[in-house]
Amino acid sequence: MAKRNLRTDGAAETESLGAELASTLEDGDLVLVRGELGAGKTTLVRGAARALGVDDPVTSPTFSIGHRYRGLGLTVSHLDLFRLAGLAQEDPGLLADYLGPGRIAFVEWPAEGEPELGAPRLVVTLSHGGGDVRLVEVEELLAGGPVGPAR
Ligand code: ADP
Ligand code: MG
Repeated sequence: MAKRNLRTDGAAETESLGAELASTLEDGDLVLVRGELGAGKTTLVRGAARALGVDDPVTSPTFSIGHRYRGLGLTVSHLDLFRLAGLAQEDPGLLADYLGPGRIAFVEWPAEGEPELGAPRLVVTLSHGGGDVRLVEVEELLAGGPVGPAR
């Protein structure tokens, strides 16, 4: 599927990109957000959540695996799996509140091949480009692939 390579210069541009991506998302979609610490994952999710109608401050989940925000007509889920070794060892119910119908979910630090998450609609990979520059690869997928729940 389509891959785009973009660059942003400053957090505001990454937020705007998040907002632009959000406008392409549908109820039930999953977005994986990859990249090392400080690459701008949470910044991108913040911009996306705003565009989806979230008024509350969007911060990194610290004491739980995720946050859920009330957006316009749906819930915006924001998960950070950094501290999890992998989902296979976790209670299968762990993700139930965050994914699926009525929600759009953004997942930071997804480990490779986590079938528990389902098929993503977008995979965004951020990397440092020096200073405030970030290189952003946006891969668009047809969700509902072999590993995901039917759309
Ligand atoms: P992550 O979630 O990937 O660890 P954060 O979004 O929490 O990263 O933090 C990114 C940090 O880098 C923020 O302090 C932000 O202000 C800064 N920053 C500088 N330039 C950019 C950029 N182009 N895009 C995103 N964040 C940037
Ligand atoms: Mg983060």
